[in-house]
Amino acid sequence: MLLEKFFKSAKAQKVNKLPCHYAVSGINYKNGFATTCAIQTDYLHKYQSTTLPSKFINNPNFKQFRLKLAKGEWPSGCHMCAEVEKENSSNSMRFDYTYDETYYHHKTGEIDFESIKIIELRFSNSCNMACLHCSQVYSSGWMSKLKHYTPTKQDYELHLDQITGAMHRRDPSEDFSIELSIEDIKDIVEDLNKNFPNIERIEFAGGEVLHQKQFFPCLKLLAQHPNSKNIFVSFHSNFNANFDPKELSQLLKPFGESLIHMSIDSGKNIYPYFRDGDWETLVNNINTFRSVNNFTRLGAVCTTSAYQIMDIRNVFESLLSLNIDEFHASLVYTPEYLNPTILMLHFKDDVLNDIENTYAWLQQYPNENLKNEALDGLDKIKTYITTHTPASTSKCPNGIEDHYKAFMHYITVSDKLWKQNFNDYIVNYRYNDNKITRVI
Ligand code: SF4
Repeated sequence: MLLEKFFKSAKAQKVNKLPCHYAVSGINYKNGFATTCAIQTDYLHKYQSTTLPSKFINNPNFKQFRLKLAKGEWPSGCHMCAEVEKENSSNSMRFDYTYDETYYHHKTGEIDFESIKIIELRFSNSCNMACLHCSQVYSSGWMSKLKHYTPTKQDYELHLDQITGAMHRRDPSEDFSIELSIEDIKDIVEDLNKNFPNIERIEFAGGEVLHQKQFFPCLKLLAQHPNSKNIFVSFHSNFNANFDPKELSQLLKPFGESLIHMSIDSGKNIYPYFRDGDWETLVNNINTFRSVNNFTRLGAVCTTSAYQIMDIRNVFESLLSLNIDEFHASLVYTPEYLNPTILMLHFKDDVLNDIENTYAWLQQYPNENLKNEALDGLDKIKTYITTHTPASTSKCPNGIEDHYKAFMHYITVSDKLWKQNFNDYIVNYRYNDNKITRVI
């Protein structure tokens, strides 16, 4: 079996110089356009004309995109994989799943409908929260915060992309938004059910799907897919919205497996500040859902930015106090001024000390699986912040120093817009006069 896999992969490497599962098997609906995976940013299909996958997956852009990878050239929208592979050749998203080219046509770049296995859908940016690492593109809460704000000269000079509206957009003038109506969703899912028999995974991202009217009707229709019993359904959620846990549980039942990635990203201390939400509501939602559902896995996600680094032990302790099945840590790479590495500029010893304290606390955690996942997550964070050096760019010629300066200004601007105070929530550090100091 291993030998067979090796020969298949070796053959794929020979014919296709950059084989990627997502390129031949993925469809990812983003804000106004569709690509192949979560990090691919090319406008392979703008879905004003049609939202139906059967109509666009072999359009000239998709075909050219696949042919380019096969020739060994990186499409511009695959820059994140290209960058990761420059540093560590086998760690990019391209290697998430085994490449299967059974339904790929090398000469034309076309695929048969049977090739599609993984779909990611977004309905809208409607969200009940406005988290500090997000943007207007993915959060209506952010739109409200910025509604009456005109970015200042300093916001532009320091490249506060979330505040100036450049974040998650290729250029600031782009005004695509995530807008799939219930009717659009009905058409898309009917297309998937009818034409794409080999779908294995369906993922939902936001906005906040539990806050959106499209989500439950979509699950109901997807349950009619001929392969629904084998489909893995997962979705990202803050799990802090107002939803019916019983109905959600019923709707997840027809699928082979289900997983909810709960983006918690904070400990009890900074949750109301960073996520703009109530910790007790989160705990109640988890416990109520658990009381009616014993088959869906609940994963807690810690997306780690400079804010989480400032209170890392409380973040880990709080996440592991919840009734969860999985623990995952990920990193905020952009905007650079929220990248966790920037704290290493002035607080290296404190940051590393806090991480060591967190390791020590984890040793006594009773659930071995969760403990190991949390230890892996902490390793990942530590390795990243101790090895990554934020690059100097034409926008930020002084690299990390410019990003740090931008972070200081971001605290001032976001505190004003969110009507909150950094010093009321961050216990280990104080922010005054554009400067952070360590206090504990
Ligand atoms: S960004 Fe990476 S994973 Fe996504 S399609 Fe391109 S090569 Fe594949």
